[in-house]
Amino acid sequence: DPVLHLDRIEKAYNRGLPNEIHVLRGASLTVARGEIVALVAPSGAGKSTLLHIAGLLDTPDAGRVLIGGEDMTGKPDRQRTRLRRDGVGFVYQFHHLLPEFSALENLVLPQLANGAPRTEAEARGQELLDSVGIAKRASHRPAALSGGEQQRVAVCRALANRPRLLLADEPTGNLDPETSDQVFAALTALVRDTGLSAVIATHNLDLAARMDRQLRLDQGVLRAL
Ligand code: ADP
Ligand code: ADP
Repeated sequence: DPVLHLDRIEKAYNRGLPNEIHVLRGASLTVARGEIVALVAPSGAGKSTLLHIAGLLDTPDAGRVLIGGEDMTGKPDRQRTRLRRDGVGFVYQFHHLLPEFSALENLVLPQLANGAPRTEAEARGQELLDSVGIAKRASHRPAALSGGEQQRVAVCRALANRPRLLLADEPTGNLDPETSDQVFAALTALVRDTGLSAVIATHNLDLAARMDRQLRLDQGVLRAL
C-alpha cells in the first residue's frame, strides 16, 4: 500500500457565504514508500490546506484520505489523533519550538508524550541532532540558535517519533538561499536514511528539482509540474 493516498479531495471555506472559497477541487495524490514529492504552487493556492488534510489535522468536504492503505475518512477523532501522532511528522516555515526548552529537550518531550523512556528519548534526540550536524547545539535554547539550526531542530522533532510520512510546509521559506540549501540537504538525507516518505511544499524550483517527483497545485487539482 502507498504511504499516503489522497483520492479526489474537495475542500471549501465559508461554504454558502458570499466569501466562499473552493480551495481543493478533486485533488488526488499517491506517495509511495521512500518517495519525496515536491509540491509547488503560489501562495494561497491551497498547499497548507492540502497538507493539513493529508496529516489528519483537517477533514475534507469530500474525497478519501488513506494512510498506509487505511481509509481515515469518517474515523473517530481519537483514532485520527493516534495515527497523526505515531505516523506523521510536520515541519512548518516557522520552527514552533518550545522557547524555554533546549534543542535536545524539544526532541525528548514528544517522545516522552508517546511513552518512550527518558534515556532512550535522549539518545535518539542526540543521534538526530548529530545526523543534521548540530550535536554541539543540544543544550541551547531555540533563541540561541541560527535560523538554519532552528529549522534543523524542527526537522529532527518531526522525526523524533519515527513517523512514516513527513509533511513540510515551506520548511526553508524563512531562510537565505545558502542556509536554505543546507537545511534542505540535511532534511532529504535524513528522510532517505530512514526510508521515510515526504511531501514538501516549496516555492523554490531548484529545491523542488532535487526531489523524486514535482507536482503543482493548480485550480484545486494536482498536476505534474
Ligand atoms: P497556501 O498554503 O497555498 O498559501 P492555504 O491552504 O493556506 O494556501 O489557503 C488557501 C486559500 O484558502 C487562501 O485563499 C486562504 O486565505 C483560504 N483559507 C485557508 N484557511 C482558511 C480558513 N480556515 N478559513 C477561510 N479561508 C481559509
Ligand atoms: P501558510 O503561510 O502556511 O499557508 P497561513 O498563514 O496561510 O499559513 O495560515 C495559517 C493558518 O490560518 C492556517 O491554519 C489556515 O487554515 C488559517 N487561515 C489562512 N487563511 C485564512 C483565512 N482567510 N481565514 C481564516 N483562517 C485562515
